[in-house]
Amino acid sequence: ARRADEEYDYLFKIVLIGDSGVGKSNLLSRFTRNEFCLESKSTIGVEFATRTLKVLPLKVEWWMWTDLGWCGEMRFRKIEEEDVVVVGRQCLDYVEGRIIKSQIWDTAGQERYRAITSAYYRGALGALLVYDVTKPISFENVSRWLKELRDHADSNIVIMLIGNKTDLKHLRAVATEDAQSYAEREGLSFIETSALEATNVEKAFQMNLSEIYRIIS
Ligand code: GDP
Ligand code: MG
Repeated sequence: ARRADEEYDYLFKIVLIGDSGVGKSNLLSRFTRNEFCLESKSTIGVEFATRTLKVLPLKVEWWMWTDLGWCGEMRFRKIEEEDVVVVGRQCLDYVEGRIIKSQIWDTAGQERYRAITSAYYRGALGALLVYDVTKPISFENVSRWLKELRDHADSNIVIMLIGNKTDLKHLRAVATEDAQSYAEREGLSFIETSALEATNVEKAFQMNLSEIYRIIS
């Protein structure tokens, strides 16, 4: 069996950007360690975290992502009927697929001073641009982050807009439709997440990884 840290077919660097406090570090810890931290503390130390997944080609534009070495029920989604069909129990070592190591970079609080260096963006294939659905200013600043990306990152970088903290329903101040139409205008994909409740976090990262994979494969 392959070891998760040692062998992979592709390494994808993804950067997290957005205002301080929007939940970038918690999206990262939720995706890579399934952890969440309620205390607000500036990211210290961690430069990036990784997670290795196997991508299985199902249909032309649909892949299933699963943890490497995971054994158990495999679920395939039928696009036409939108239902999920369990096709059997299988050990993934025997299923053909590419192994993708995603290396997700987090800021160490530099976003507060807009002091992110171009080294941060270097080689990044994907970017998750995060705002807080309860903080309109963090949504207004998205365009500044987008400009920053367009100035410093590769022009082919796959950008995804993420509205985080959807669990704070009573505090919502940015409408889904507004962000959706902004994303469409700017050619970004868009999703809303809650790192706290683990809603759509997997999906957000996987959508970004899938888009990158589609471009490079
Ligand atoms: P960063 O500065 O963008 O890295 O943001 P952090 O991940 O450090 O999160 C800032 C604060 O928001 C922390 O107190 C987190 O616990 C909180 N937070 C992050 N994600 C969520 C979420 O999805 N829901 C809620 N309610 N709080 C969150
Ligand atoms: Mg942080």
